[in-house]
Amino acid sequence: MEELKLQQKEIVETRQGEAFAPFTKDENVYTKKFYIESYGCQMNFSDSEIVASILNKEGFGATRNCEEADLIFVNTCSIREKAEQTVRKRLTEFRKIKESRPGILVGVLGCMAERLKSKFLEEEKLVDIVVGPDAYRALPALVQEAETGQKAVNVMLSRDETYADISPVRLNSNGVSAFISIMRGCNNMCSFCVVPFTRGRERSRNPLSIVAEARDLFDRGFKEVTLLGQNVDSFYFLDEEKSETITFAKLLEMVAQVHPDLRVRFSTSHPKDITEDVLHTIAKYENICSYIHLPVQSGSTRILQLMNRNYTREWYMAKIAQIKKIIPDCGISSDMITGFCTETEQDHQDTLSIMRFSEYDYAYMFYYSERPGTLAARRHTDDVPLEIKKRRLQEVVDMQYQLSLNSNLKDVGKTFKVLIEGESKKSENDWMARNSQNKVIVFPKGEHGFQKGDYVTVKVKECNKATLLGVVV
Ligand code: SAM
Ligand code: SF4
Repeated sequence: MEELKLQQKEIVETRQGEAFAPFTKDENVYTKKFYIESYGCQMNFSDSEIVASILNKEGFGATRNCEEADLIFVNTCSIREKAEQTVRKRLTEFRKIKESRPGILVGVLGCMAERLKSKFLEEEKLVDIVVGPDAYRALPALVQEAETGQKAVNVMLSRDETYADISPVRLNSNGVSAFISIMRGCNNMCSFCVVPFTRGRERSRNPLSIVAEARDLFDRGFKEVTLLGQNVDSFYFLDEEKSETITFAKLLEMVAQVHPDLRVRFSTSHPKDITEDVLHTIAKYENICSYIHLPVQSGSTRILQLMNRNYTREWYMAKIAQIKKIIPDCGISSDMITGFCTETEQDHQDTLSIMRFSEYDYAYMFYYSERPGTLAARRHTDDVPLEIKKRRLQEVVDMQYQLSLNSNLKDVGKTFKVLIEGESKKSENDWMARNSQNKVIVFPKGEHGFQKGDYVTVKVKECNKATLLGVVV
């Protein structure tokens, strides 16, 4: 089981708990310091950048050292029980800092704050501030309130908050790629999922502000943006003045037109909503990356129905076939959940076979964790024993390793245009880059004088299951 934990960690949790600070920081501007740690999905990491922007305006500068912070924030995730346990453990560690420096304030942000609301203050005695994902504009007032010794809570969800006018402070950025939040919330109600309860109703951000953010990033030297939403395909914005509807396909095109050297990625697509238009738009623009994250969750139609995913096994397979037809070189990744309520061995085999059919390049894999208040918790019984969930997860992980390796082996001998993201973690003599399909390619720097943010053509010489190794051509 230890091995399984390691694998899961390698696959899904490389950034969890990352402490944030901008890559440049002016010590003189700020009189007070905040420390922020983020857990969960990319949307949370992106929200932390909005929080940083709001706090900067209030005179707080970011630090990566919690020992010197006046304000400590944890941006939390509720998606699985384990994510919540990690946050609780971390909060007890912050208790020690607070005991030695009683003046500091500790705040809980994000999904767990929204789920537990003021219960947090009773359960976790050291927490001073509790703020849900739609209430970050209230942070300065809440901090002031907490400074007077009161507990400060705002967990109001909104139908229209998109933080469109707030320019995020890029935290821990490599200066090459950045995330742009294009919508918030989710209307889907997948039965296992807590997100609709913690992040509220779906709303799309004004496309002009999205394009302006992309242009500003490009002007500042960024070369890649990832458009973020829980279900990007349901992006919908009505420009009342022009009586024009902006769909996700249109938005993709608008961002792609900012500059041919700005790569565009997006996440996450829902199999029931991704349109042919989106696929043709990806195929049409070289700078829209040939990569789609299309979570299947399960390969069994019966389980998909219980999950309320609104597609069947056959529908999903037809989507994969359509993607491969319209974008032949497309990279595809997925999410899988093992051991959902009533899952049989046959259902599990159906998941393994749909993985084989789809030939995923990469996947995020989980065993089912019942979340209080969700449709599944109310309607179905969490009846698959933990050891079976974990055994099936291991089989899914093993299958994915094989698929990733096969996929990488097929790339040996091919040539790709890659974007250099920075130095390889393993050697200062190598660059780490990504191709359009989102695969990592490592290659020797040599005497070429390339820099981070450059596009380079690289030929793949060898590979392992996680990385392609190449040379400049
Ligand atoms: N909106 C995206 C989607 O629909 O694919 C992502 C949602 S969630 C942040 C990321 C993944 O977490 C899901 O795709 C699902 O595989 C997994 N997940 C969500 N709820 C879960 C639960 N209760 N137990 C285990 N995994 C879960
Ligand atoms: Fe959760 Fe489903 Fe919405 Fe994704 S689409 S956030 S899994 S409810």
